[in-house]
Amino acid sequence: MLVKTEVIVLRSMKYRDTSKIVTFYSKEYGKIKGIAKGARSAKNKFGSALEPLSHSMLLVYKKEHRDLHLISQCDSINPFKKLTENLDRMTAALSILELADHVTHHEEKNSALFLLLVEVLSTLNESTRNFKAYSYAFQLRLAALFGYAPNFETCSRCGKNVPAGNNENQVTFQITSGAVLCSECHEPPGPREYGSDRNLAFMPLSVQGLQLIRCLFGTQLSSLENLNYDAHTGNETEELIRLYIKYHFDEIKSLKSEKYFQQHVSIF
Ligand SMILES: [Zn+2]
Repeated sequence: MLVKTEVIVLRSMKYRDTSKIVTFYSKEYGKIKGIAKGARSAKNKFGSALEPLSHSMLLVYKKEHRDLHLISQCDSINPFKKLTENLDRMTAALSILELADHVTHHEEKNSALFLLLVEVLSTLNESTRNFKAYSYAFQLRLAALFGYAPNFETCSRCGKNVPAGNNENQVTFQITSGAVLCSECHEPPGPREYGSDRNLAFMPLSVQGLQLIRCLFGTQLSSLENLNYDAHTGNETEELIRLYIKYHFDEIKSLKSEKYFQQHVSIF
């Protein structure tokens, strides 16, 4: 059956002399894989539409009970060219693709995830700074789409709204429940990695960190480039999100992009 669907290109690999095998995240079918015959020949009819990070329209012969389909046509909607013009912006973009690839299964439709991918990549493409923030905002929203929405607003113990407060009122975030505890219900910070006792996974969160993480989770993606924060706040927030995502998505323990982030980009 010949079907048409919008896609984000996740990755591609060479196949035989002139072809490519390309993995997409599609709006209609979730993650799908196809073979693009002649994509590496002089007569490549696909142009840049099969490059990773591209937003494209795919026409594919889709066969039931097959993992690999035959790509008929692929046209670029937006190649998101600026994503690859700057190393930090590209790293953030690739980390988004890598995570989406790792947490999804073959041909399981999730249109909300597709729309989130398009939105985060297009806003990151236009952004001028805070590139890493887009990746972390994506991670929090992805967790919510998979049923692990964190709660940064109300205390999980007494139910009160947690105010942004002053610097004295530090709150804690419980990795396991994904919720904050107010300064009155404050728990002493536990081990940073949730080793033998997972209930001990409390992380301190400063007032600035709480404000930043609320923005990452709730603000329009297009306004992320306007955020201002210091290195300490960025690092604290990053660590919390990293542990939270790792706790819920076992698959991501060895993401290449995470290692790159830690080695090369010290703050957002
Ligand atoms: Zn409380």
